[in-house]
Amino acid sequence: MNRRMLLEALVAAPLAGLAGRALAATPKGGIDVQDLQKTWKALLPAGAAVPSASEALKLSKDEWKKRLDAAQFRVLREEGTEPPGSSPLNDEKRPGVFACAGCGLPLFTSAMKYDSGTGWPSFFTDIPGHLQTKRDFRLILPRTEYHCARCGGHQGHVFDDGPPPTGQRWCNNGVALRFLPKEGGA
Ligand SMILES: [Zn+2]
Repeated sequence: MNRRMLLEALVAAPLAGLAGRALAATPKGGIDVQDLQKTWKALLPAGAAVPSASEALKLSKDEWKKRLDAAQFRVLREEGTEPPGSSPLNDEKRPGVFACAGCGLPLFTSAMKYDSGTGWPSFFTDIPGHLQTKRDFRLILPRTEYHCARCGGHQGHVFDDGPPPTGQRWCNNGVALRFLPKEGGA
């Protein structure tokens, strides 16, 4: 092996590892992500009234404290992280919509969810325009934080080690979400 081949092998090795992991986590074959994003309302319960991202909800800290329980407040308003494996939404597999626990804005659907094995509800894409991102340096290494576009509530972080076709892993705190099952009520 000459020097150039060695360099190429070193560059390719981590990429190959990543592709292998992502392939193993493929949620379903042949997913049309744009279609999932366009048709998300089909997974809302019949007659559900949900707010839109443009109806901004701004409350004071005290108003949020009244509206949220302590665990929700810690995550949504103080960018806390729930313990892995603590959310019942990890095992939620029914058709439906995952909305912000702070303001009810739909953020993801059941068709966007996959089992990442991390202990947090995970999604490979999101409802367009309903989440906003920012860089976060809390763990020294930069991460991409994301939050609800309507109320600003922190939801989680997005990483690039998710499954195809997007390669995204939206790693969400379950306590920051409310699940609206399409059938049969909560
Ligand atoms: Zn919200």
